[in-house]
Amino acid sequence: MNKILSELNEAQRDAVKHIDGPLLILAGAGSGKTKTITTRVAYLISLGIDPASILTLTFTNKAASEMRERALSLIESVNYPPTLCTFHKFGLLFLKFNINKLGRNNNFVVIDTDDKKRIIKSFGIDLPISMIASEISRYKNSLISPKEVFEKAERKNYKTIAKLYEQYENYIASNNLVDFDDLLVLTYKILEQDIELCKQTSDRYRYIMVDEYQDTNELQYRLLRKLCENHENLCVVGDDDQSIYGWRGANIKNILEFHESFDEVKITKLEVNYRSTNQILKTANALIEHNRERIGKNLTSDFGDGKEIAFIESADENQESQTIARKIRKLIDTGADPRSIAVLYRVNALSRSLEEGLNKEHVSYNMVGGIKFYERAEIKDLISYLRIIANEHDDYSMKRIINKPKRGLGKVTIDKFLKAAYESKMSLFEYISTHEAEVKSIASKKSFVALYEFIENIIKLKELSSDNSYDFIFELEDTFKIRDYYSTLPDAVDRVSNIDEFYGLYRDYVKQNLEMSVDEFLNDLALQSDQDQIDYEHISIMSVHASKGLEFEYLFVIGLEEGFFPLIGDGSDIEEERRLGYVAITRAKRELWLSCVGSRFYKGRRATLKKSRFLKECGVCKGSLVLEKTTSFKKGDLVKHKIFGIGRIFEISKVKREFKLKINFSGTKRDILASFVEKI
Ligand code: ATP
Ligand code: MG
Repeated sequence: MNKILSELNEAQRDAVKHIDGPLLILAGAGSGKTKTITTRVAYLISLGIDPASILTLTFTNKAASEMRERALSLIESVNYPPTLCTFHKFGLLFLKFNINKLGRNNNFVVIDTDDKKRIIKSFGIDLPISMIASEISRYKNSLISPKEVFEKAERKNYKTIAKLYEQYENYIASNNLVDFDDLLVLTYKILEQDIELCKQTSDRYRYIMVDEYQDTNELQYRLLRKLCENHENLCVVGDDDQSIYGWRGANIKNILEFHESFDEVKITKLEVNYRSTNQILKTANALIEHNRERIGKNLTSDFGDGKEIAFIESADENQESQTIARKIRKLIDTGADPRSIAVLYRVNALSRSLEEGLNKEHVSYNMVGGIKFYERAEIKDLISYLRIIANEHDDYSMKRIINKPKRGLGKVTIDKFLKAAYESKMSLFEYISTHEAEVKSIASKKSFVALYEFIENIIKLKELSSDNSYDFIFELEDTFKIRDYYSTLPDAVDRVSNIDEFYGLYRDYVKQNLEMSVDEFLNDLALQSDQDQIDYEHISIMSVHASKGLEFEYLFVIGLEEGFFPLIGDGSDIEEERRLGYVAITRAKRELWLSCVGSRFYKGRRATLKKSRFLKECGVCKGSLVLEKTTSFKKGDLVKHKIFGIGRIFEISKVKREFKLKINFSGTKRDILASFVEKI
């Protein structure tokens, strides 16, 4: 037991040893909040508390698996590990056992945001799909039914949205699909309507912990209250300065009013930072001090002053990425572990030029987030095959693959099937399997044969899949030849290698989860979050949001310009932007570079930009600012101008803070400022 507590300071130890009753640990970045709760898990187990009664919740799978590792490394062995997962994964586990309470079958399939949008799109309306998807999400998270939305709607558009919301809910329920919101909403509804089950569940999880509590929303709070029906052993940790999901409905009041929501709350503050040097903390503190809505705390570190924060100012994004890529190259060449280096940006679109720069310097990187592997068409197709095998009533997936690879079925034919299936109150698969004569009259002879072959193959694979064999995925390929199909399409090399990667992933999953079923595999896939894609042989590049809870020895934050960071636009909140700045800076352990550019090419045009106010607020821009004396343009470069077209640079000079280029546009020579052209 001493070993478990030995690495903690007194305040942390105090928190770990508090066993019964609500506990709030409110502390700044890098002060060991996560370390405290992982240690607490181990400590509770060391006291003989049943690991199965400990539930620890967080926001990303990556954070959950790191926490599990940390906790388990502190204890000798347990028969079964404590539950330590994301809120959504908890919902998934709960629904697997209890969704029948809502009259639904537990072979449901979890759909992601992209699937959700496609479903909405299929309703054929001319309102923006993303807006509707997020409105629906907002209603669901606020537990408002379609009927209530309809009754309260004053404008016609909202009445339309209410109808779509209803149509969407009916669609996913009848296809036995569950979206991300449902994982929490349905869990909450079941616990609310079944008081006995609620009590049993609360008794089962006697010790509950939540990391990053500042980012919980109202629904998560209500769910936690249900889980605390029979006790108040809830320990939450968080930092009001790191609340960055306001735009998604996180409610900072949950943490600020925690001591009022529960009785006799013990509050612990942790004040020493074990992550960063004082220079880094000073910068972070100076920035966040400009926010008004905060409790206020100051972090200090034992690590000494460390290096001064470096400021990089470049003419444009090409120069910025070149400078940063070279610095990273040098760090790696002089022995830094690539895993300890990261570049963060506020806006995903900034990754493109950064990637180019890194490629030129041969720095391998892993982009966390971005275009996700699972969002590629070929992978979605494979997933749809698996979904149909897990649940043949999933019309959404059936529609996706019924003619892929080609079986001679056109849209008109498929629509006829859908209509007939709908009228017979059956799923598409069920209808086709049971109405041979009707199908024959709709489809051509050739496609009829192909279609029934498809149906038989799915049934055959469904039987095979229950053996959960390693080879099942090869059977799938041999039967449907999806790989072959994609090898004849454009981008074949990429697509085929993605498919191979997916097959590899599946086999790996079978190896690690011997008892698994296809739908478990699918549901775990759907829960993959951005952070799960970090690969440990490369440097990492990611958005500030994705970096929450992580730490890196060497950190670059790019794009510190007004408009980009802080992001300024509809509904942006400057205090939340500043908290994002604070999260970004506090990811750094040893060295930090902050970077901005004079102009950036964005959304089809080059914009001249001002330095971010954050640079001044955090004290990095006090001294004289030196514009780097180089530009990424060289004599002889081909460039493109919006009006004059393509030309070649034959001279470069400097005018104040900008570079002037002499360009030859098919014989006509012109002087143009560098920020008005783009390199090609
Ligand atoms: P964030 O707010 O960013 O999530 P956090 O408060 O959760 O940060 P941790 O990630 O738990 O902080 O800890 C930050 C770093 O400090 C980790 O590397 C951790 O191992 C180390 N650390 C925490 N507490 C101590 C301690 N008492 N002694 C030595 N190192 C510690
Ligand atoms: Mg943490």
